[in-house]
Amino acid sequence: MDVMDVGQNIEALLVTANRSISVKIPLELDDGTIRVFKGYRVQHNNARGPFKGGLRYAPDVDLDEVRSLASLMTWKTALTRLPYGGAKGGIAVDVKELNRGELERLTRRFVNRIHDFIGPQTDIPAPDMNTNAQTMAWIMDQYSMLHGHNPAVVTGKPVDLYGAEGRESATGRGVVYVIEELMKDEGRDLAETTFCIQGLGNVGSYAARFLDGLGAKIVGVSDVSGAVYDEAGLPVGEILEHVRKGGDVKGYAGGDALPGEELLTLPCDVLVPAAVGDVINRENMREIRASYIVEAANGPVTPEADDHLRERGVILVPDILANAGGVVVSYFEWVQNLQNFSWKEKQANAELHSTITEAYRRVRKLAKRRGLDLRTAAFVLAIGSVGKATVLRGIY
Ligand code: GLU
Repeated sequence: MDVMDVGQNIEALLVTANRSISVKIPLELDDGTIRVFKGYRVQHNNARGPFKGGLRYAPDVDLDEVRSLASLMTWKTALTRLPYGGAKGGIAVDVKELNRGELERLTRRFVNRIHDFIGPQTDIPAPDMNTNAQTMAWIMDQYSMLHGHNPAVVTGKPVDLYGAEGRESATGRGVVYVIEELMKDEGRDLAETTFCIQGLGNVGSYAARFLDGLGAKIVGVSDVSGAVYDEAGLPVGEILEHVRKGGDVKGYAGGDALPGEELLTLPCDVLVPAAVGDVINRENMREIRASYIVEAANGPVTPEADDHLRERGVILVPDILANAGGVVVSYFEWVQNLQNFSWKEKQANAELHSTITEAYRRVRKLAKRRGLDLRTAAFVLAIGSVGKATVLRGIY
């Protein structure tokens, strides 16, 4: 905060969440067993608009994690100038242990617990790790049963149910728009630049596909099962097809197979962590060989590793900029729902492109003018904007 000009009182307001909700979600499994899950929704800040952010389902979800991810959403929406605040939620659950019907009941029960705190002008959830368009459809349905038909309560819905064309691929697409700008600034040709992508979930797989389409040289990819590397470039389309059919990277025959965590320290120009948080940390930070890191995941680099990499001159594009494409297209979906109107995918992609590249340019410009790294510059802009909105609204 010392590079910022927000006063100390405002600083205290911005670091704490407005509201943290923890709920118990009981669920009877198909075999009759009763299990109790913990669900969370943290509403960090709404000075600039309704709370907004995803819901993740993962075994290690807890209040601390959700809290820090909620604050990232506040900065992400401010940086991209969307009229939203920030929130995050989740359920501590291993989705592999539940079948589809059980997941549906778990989701609906969670909505029953939190429905009074969400709404199209209050707090708008969206997909995140291990949740998808189907999860959002259940949320919309359950919320509508309680409050009347209201698709704008959640974004990332199926295209056949008020979802936006282009939302599913939006985060990966935004990552690639940022990479294109970065490479232009650095005077690098995509075809001569090598990339490693960690994670082939929603974000990583679309990022890989779009980068491949632009002729970039992807030399390494990984998922939870393992990594594959080929310095001559991997056949990305083939790998994605193998994964789409239910295969994993370990089972892909081609390139050199490696343990998953080794992907991060492979020789490449640009490293794109697109999986979970804290993967670049004290243990492996000294072995990172990339010159650029583009944070497609939320929080993939720990603060300690961030300091170390900055000192080494690694250029890092922070998550609140690099992966903002998802929430940007969520905003387009919400606007379409509120207007009962739908855009063509071309329009969503074009608007996404300008929103992301303009945010990137603002960050880059400030970084240059003030001699800051990109993460600090992004935070200066985002925190400044939320701070200003807070002061203008007045403290009451
Ligand atoms: N979960 C995504 C994120 O971390 C998207 C949030 C949204 O669309 O509201 O940015």
